[in-house]
Amino acid sequence: MRFFVKTLILSLVLCASTAWAEPLRVVASFSIMGDMVKNVGGEDVVVTTLVGPDGDAHVYEPTPTDAKAVSNAQLLVVNGLHFEGWMDRLVQSAGYRGEIVVVSQGVTPRQMKEEHEDAAHGEQHHDPHHHGTIDPHAWQDLANGVIYVDNLIAALVKVDPDHAEAYRRRGAAYRAQLQDTDRWVRAQIATVPAAQRRVITSHDAFGYFSAAYGVEFLAPVGWNTENEPSAKDVARLIRQIKQEKTRALFVENMSDPRLIKRIAREAGGVVGGTLYSDALAPAGQTGDSYIGMFRHNVPALTAAMAQN
Ligand code: ZN
Repeated sequence: MRFFVKTLILSLVLCASTAWAEPLRVVASFSIMGDMVKNVGGEDVVVTTLVGPDGDAHVYEPTPTDAKAVSNAQLLVVNGLHFEGWMDRLVQSAGYRGEIVVVSQGVTPRQMKEEHEDAAHGEQHHDPHHHGTIDPHAWQDLANGVIYVDNLIAALVKVDPDHAEAYRRRGAAYRAQLQDTDRWVRAQIATVPAAQRRVITSHDAFGYFSAAYGVEFLAPVGWNTENEPSAKDVARLIRQIKQEKTRALFVENMSDPRLIKRIAREAGGVVGGTLYSDALAPAGQTGDSYIGMFRHNVPALTAAMAQN
């Protein structure tokens, strides 16, 4: 009986401490990671996102405020695949020794397309966007998004086991939403004849999307968020657009739209709108969540591709 009472009191104390616990302090490297953490973590976490909406994580320079957020964090969430090239130094300067979850762990990495072309042409490009040959944009395939969420659930459960059940419950619901969205994307793309599934974008961020959903994305060699393409590259792309009669051109929310607009003019294409690739839209706009990004991009793509 005494044992029972002791156990009861202990349980009450544990329950009370859990109920009144501060939310887990999570730092996410960029907006898409931040949104995933909010979906799985819910009220049990407070999320600080380093590279916010419309921000370009490829060329980001961390601030002292970021270092402070990282040093106070209890979990750090990164994409990995060499996307956040600035993260190692930030972790060091912040003196962070806590848990780091690389949510892309377990995805099948793709090679950057341009690297093959560069090798074929025997050119030596110094191109920091590539960070080697791995394509970091794995979140553009929702099946990878599911892997991200599984990694995230496991990390949250490990760091904050008191809320394990809530993380698993929210994670499972979010996972199901991603799978629904994946089916919806496939159905939308299927409405466009296969020969017309071709678009031009301003940096090569859609390799995983392309492989998963059967849409061909073109971008000139060496064209990314850090390097302007050469006049020769631009001329080659304009020739290709005219030859293939590709009319669907897109700008991306985190890069300069001027060049793609010029190419559209010269090649006789149309700018079909903005695609969200590496960053979400500001809160309240379409594309302000990971799922919202697909809900925005896919109808824009199908409408533009129908004109090819
Ligand atoms: Zn990118």
